[in-house]
Amino acid sequence: MSFEAVIGLEVHAQLLTKSKIFCGCSTQFGSSPNSQTCPVCLGMPGVLPVLNKKVVEYAIMLGLATNCTINRNSYFARKNYFYPDLPKGYQISQYELPICSDGYIMIKTKEGEKRIGITRIHMEEDAGKLIHEGAHSLVDLNRTGTPLLEIVSEPDMRTPEEAVSYLKELRQILLYLGICDGNMEEGSFRCDANVSVRRKGDTKFGTKTELKNINSFRFIQKALEYEIERQIDIIESGGKIIQETRLFDSSKGITISMRSKEEAHDYRYFPEPDLMPIFVDEVHIKKIKESLPELPYEKRQRFKDQYNIPEYDIEILTNERDISDFFEKCVSLYNNPKTLSNFFMTEIMKELNERKCGILETKLTPGNVVEIFKLLDEDKINYNGAKTILPKIIETGKSPSVLIEEMGLVQISDTSALESIVMDVLRNNKKELKEYLSGKDKLFAFFVGQVMKRTSGKANPKILQDLLKEKLSKISIDEVDNL
Ligand code: ADP
Ligand code: ZN
Ligand code: MG
Repeated sequence: MSFEAVIGLEVHAQLLTKSKIFCGCSTQFGSSPNSQTCPVCLGMPGVLPVLNKKVVEYAIMLGLATNCTINRNSYFARKNYFYPDLPKGYQISQYELPICSDGYIMIKTKEGEKRIGITRIHMEEDAGKLIHEGAHSLVDLNRTGTPLLEIVSEPDMRTPEEAVSYLKELRQILLYLGICDGNMEEGSFRCDANVSVRRKGDTKFGTKTELKNINSFRFIQKALEYEIERQIDIIESGGKIIQETRLFDSSKGITISMRSKEEAHDYRYFPEPDLMPIFVDEVHIKKIKESLPELPYEKRQRFKDQYNIPEYDIEILTNERDISDFFEKCVSLYNNPKTLSNFFMTEIMKELNERKCGILETKLTPGNVVEIFKLLDEDKINYNGAKTILPKIIETGKSPSVLIEEMGLVQISDTSALESIVMDVLRNNKKELKEYLSGKDKLFAFFVGQVMKRTSGKANPKILQDLLKEKLSKISIDEVDNL
């Protein structure tokens, strides 16, 4: 009997606001510990939180981008638990009435597109960070009060691949909206994965476990694969899954029990008395809706309609907004999307990957990319020349026409210049020339090679071939000695 997995994901996305959710402290990453704190985020008695409007706006943006209902009324709640990184002893979150609910996003799967439901999106504050040093633990409260959106999915995914695809799509939407930097290593996009298994055909879900502490797409895939296997093994050997939270150990590739349901916290949620309920009116929602950028799935569709380039290229080109904007600027200057897309796929992406940098961090501009193609069209360089100058443009920002002069890459397309080299080569290789003229056609390539050698590969191959053919056709075997 075969099994199928059921997966639901809870994602925390750190928002790119300048200040924290309930105070004016900076949210910048990497400052010295506890330098970005104040009585509010330190949880001193007697202080009052003030809601950062931007957080509400960002939540609505994501809600609209993920087809959610924006709840005109919602409110904050206190989630009570004790932990050293939480100075107040409670986290301000949303519970019964979140700001967004009942949405969905479309993801790509092997079988085509699939709709994954989004149960809710709510706003909350982040906790601080514990740094463990030997026998001591230190507390850094810079992150305390950083705004988060928690995005809870329906248990709609059936494979680790679908889970990864969902996360990639969601992350891309956040990046397109510009409300989260999506950095998984730094923890600004983190995911808890809930997973259960059931026999194929069953309609009821099995008991789930929750996997925490997974900070890359690869680890999510691995953690889920391991956990699904583990659960199937237990059921097949007659055991029962216990509902628990498990940690992924990335060095061993396994999940380890952290706490069972019995040990789970009772958070004693209640409405936050220090904050007003949140009301958002239609006009405000409409304004945000109108200001939304083009979203990844919309852009992919438009690229398909507009540029007639392969689906795979579209995937890569629209992966980052900067790349797609850059590509479109190039197309507006040089109307050959297919050629440009090829060059992006094979050359530009390779250079960016090697440097691990974004396209805007290089000195490349749409202007100089397009200039490369003009030089190619005018036969000033060949494709190899284009490949050679690209890294130099990226590093120096110099224009392609200057670089090909500097690097001596200008193609020799001038017929008279090539003609004298061709004649010289023929004169200096009389033995081969005679053989050729008496029927050894293969030697044509030899002459091409000799000219290329003399010009350090810069002879325009097409012009050279034509010229050589013409010359050879005019020489008769008894003329060779007097050439
Ligand atoms: P809890 O009460 O443990 O918080 P929820 O019902 O709120 O559980 O769901 C939390 C997450 O777990 C959601 O993303 C949901 O889709 C997912 N989930 C719920 N039940 C299952 C299940 N049986 N198997 C896999 N995922 C599940
Ligand atoms: Zn503060
Ligand atoms: Mg829940």
